Amino acid sequence: MPTKPTTRPTVPTARTSRYQALRRAQRLDVAAWFLRRRPALTFVIASINVGLLLAAHYSWQRIGLIFGAYLTYIVYQLGDWLWHRRRPIDDRTLFRAGLVTLTFMGINIGATGGLSSPLAISILPVTVGTFVAYGRGRESLLAALYAVAVSLGLALLPVNVVGLRPEYPYDVALTLASTLFGIFVLLSSMGRLSDAMGTIEDKLDRMREDVIVGAEQRGQALESIGAKVAHELKNPLAAIKGLTQLLDRSLAPEDARARERIAVVTSEITRMETILRDYLSFERPLTDLRRELVDVARLVDDVFAVLEARAASAGVGLRRLGSASVMADPRRLKEALLNILANAVEASGERAPGSQPSVDVEIDDAADVVVVRVRDHGRGIGKDELARLGTPFFTTREGGTGLGVCLARSVVTQHGGELTYDSVVGAGTTATLTLPTAA
Ligand code: ADP
Ligand code: MG
Repeated sequence: MPTKPTTRPTVPTARTSRYQALRRAQRLDVAAWFLRRRPALTFVIASINVGLLLAAHYSWQRIGLIFGAYLTYIVYQLGDWLWHRRRPIDDRTLFRAGLVTLTFMGINIGATGGLSSPLAISILPVTVGTFVAYGRGRESLLAALYAVAVSLGLALLPVNVVGLRPEYPYDVALTLASTLFGIFVLLSSMGRLSDAMGTIEDKLDRMREDVIVGAEQRGQALESIGAKVAHELKNPLAAIKGLTQLLDRSLAPEDARARERIAVVTSEITRMETILRDYLSFERPLTDLRRELVDVARLVDDVFAVLEARAASAGVGLRRLGSASVMADPRRLKEALLNILANAVEASGERAPGSQPSVDVEIDDAADVVVVRVRDHGRGIGKDELARLGTPFFTTREGGTGLGVCLARSVVTQHGGELTYDSVVGAGTTATLTLPTAA
């Protein structure tokens, strides 16, 4: 059965909640900043409004009510501030602060003409401010609903309760003061919030980087352990293989069963050696290319010699056409070709019995490049598999390492060349190596 390539599960929830926690912390930070400044800000706008109403010779009772409301509001704010000097601000405090503000505004607007009051505009920045702080969410919706309820209440109050609108030009001055004040508070909070968002982005970037660096380090550590283990296993395995061969020779000729068993042991050892070789050549640093003038045809013939037995037992013929020379590292290039050709032979061997599959290697000496095409008439590679071909550990073979194509590609790339695959399922595959002639 083919081994299914595994994919790592993603955990979006962990990151989302980390982001939400960060966002919440920043929002509460901005809220704390705002709550600290709020009493002073309220004092300023209260002085302006009460001053203008006094100048307009507005009703004394109504001015008294507004003054009292502002005073209560400021005392409440100071209390809030004192309370939260030692305790952290939470979402509930922030939400309640918004509702209390809307309530006091409702009182002031209700005392200066209802919805036609010059102060009516000030409901808007509070509602917008809540939305900016919370974004789309339950709190924003509730605050907006409350603002609508206050507005409706104001609209329904009879004229003798809400009184008359202050006279011109004081009404205009009051509207202007409320508008400018609202804009100022809103913009300064939004500026602060957008700074906070920037901080969040920075923090997330740093977190992401930490995660990536950590994963890289872990990956490198694992790789080096893997290489070390593979290396350490090589010698004991060679010893076992040698001893098994000795054992095989010392068996009596009639001991067929034991011979069979030893043959299995030997083939398993060979398989282990192949796996180790794949890992080790994959781990070997790609830095030291030893380039020399390489006869590609001879190199291909050498690879054929290595694969001869395997090809013969699979009933696959090996053919070569053309020749060329390149400046390359012969050992590495041979390794790459061996991997590509081994795959081609393996894929061809799965053809229906009776067919005569062959693997053809065409060497083309073009102007500046040498093109080597390895064509097989094997089972072919599906589109999805083709996309994953060459990523480490991608294999469909039982006992495969999934490193062959990856290694071949990195060798070719290091030589300044390119390795591409074309395939038709059921018809065969062509691997194309393009290597620059000169280094
Ligand atoms: P391995 O040979 O250890 O499986 P490789 O990297 O050499 O790893 O190949 C990865 C996979 O690509 C193979 O398992 C096989 O499914 C597919 N493959 C590579 N070359 C061919 C080919 N010529 N024809 C069909 N499949 C191929
Ligand atoms: Mg392979």
